[in-house]
Amino acid sequence: MIGVVQRVVLGFRRRAALDAWAAVVAGLDAHEREQLAGVRFVVADWPGREDYARGFHGGFGYFFGVQAGADGGTALPDDPCGEVRIFVGTIEPFARATLDLVIRHELAHAFGASEADCDLAGLGPAAFAEVAARC
Ligand SMILES: [Zn+2]
Repeated sequence: MIGVVQRVVLGFRRRAALDAWAAVVAGLDAHEREQLAGVRFVVADWPGREDYARGFHGGFGYFFGVQAGADGGTALPDDPCGEVRIFVGTIEPFARATLDLVIRHELAHAFGASEADCDLAGLGPAAFAEVAARC
């Protein structure tokens, strides 16, 4: 059970996440936006049973689906494009820089990047630590 203040804060965080997603997607080129056409963006407060059933094991969010250019994937048969799902209740420090990084990290996975690729692209643990140090 959450209180009124926490409900208001989570509502603010959800709206901020939607704004951040729109800004990040607006910054993609036309080809990237086309690749992303079937990928849903889902904002939740906290991870739930469905997320853990999909293999989520901690963090601020995840990409679930077939990665662009990948032969395999984890998509459900009726969900060929997948989704980026983030949990605004887990994102600390909650700042636009952190949100942008979370979204860019999960989008990189949608585009086929591994964790090592994300790290090399400046979207890995070192980047999260740097953002946290600035907040
Ligand atoms: Zn990742």
